[in-house]
Amino acid sequence: MNNKAVIAEHFKLPSNGLLYGNNVNPNVKLRSMTVRDEMKRLGPSNDGSMYRAMAEVLDDCLVEKPGISTYDMCLGDYQFLLHKLRIVTYGPEYMMECRCPVCTDVDEYLVNLENLTLLELTEFEESMLELELPHCGKKIKLNINTPRLLDNIEKDVVRTRKQHKKQSQAFSELDWHLRYQLVYSIDTIDGEKASYTFKESFCDSLVGRDFNAILNKQSEIDKKVGLGAIMELLCNNCGSEFSAPFRLTTEFYRPSRTS
Ligand SMILES: [Zn+2]
Repeated sequence: MNNKAVIAEHFKLPSNGLLYGNNVNPNVKLRSMTVRDEMKRLGPSNDGSMYRAMAEVLDDCLVEKPGISTYDMCLGDYQFLLHKLRIVTYGPEYMMECRCPVCTDVDEYLVNLENLTLLELTEFEESMLELELPHCGKKIKLNINTPRLLDNIEKDVVRTRKQHKKQSQAFSELDWHLRYQLVYSIDTIDGEKASYTFKESFCDSLVGRDFNAILNKQSEIDKKVGLGAIMELLCNNCGSEFSAPFRLTTEFYRPSRTS
């Protein structure tokens, strides 16, 4: 028996590959998901592997390989491919529950995933990743935020909490995400590659102005590329225009409507 061929479409990564060096081809071809892919997506995931399974599914569905795993792409490219995979597999219609801020009516809206705004990177220089900390004056070069990095942060948070649980309840209840977000965001300090343990103590001693500068810079970089997170809607009840943030729900990976 011959299965109907899977659907595959061409896309260009919104980063245009500019963040990854010369060997990455931003023109990719993505095929629709099969039962096997869905089985992988639904497979067991441990702390710190939330993004890995999905990145592996995306990698498998890339018919033409870009020369980099989606696990190591910037978050903008990764999310872009996730949306395109959903569209290639199930179409662009997405049911989302929203509350109108004018009349407070809650209703379901069928939105089109193709209509999200897309920010593309047209130029990139290494200096875009650099900043000077306002208090201590150190020069920091940041890493690009990737799915792998987010998984690593989660892994280290869980590990650190466990370590402290035996000795100090107060320490185990700290939100260690901040520390590891900072640790993983730093590539070099004053031009030097810093070791993991050095970065841990360096980040622990940063004053508010300095760590806030790092977080702001990182989110500024994240926002340069990828899909916009806000959708414009028209209220079904009062007719007002309002904007709602895009939210990922089960409707994204398994839409209840079959068209
Ligand atoms: Zn309304």
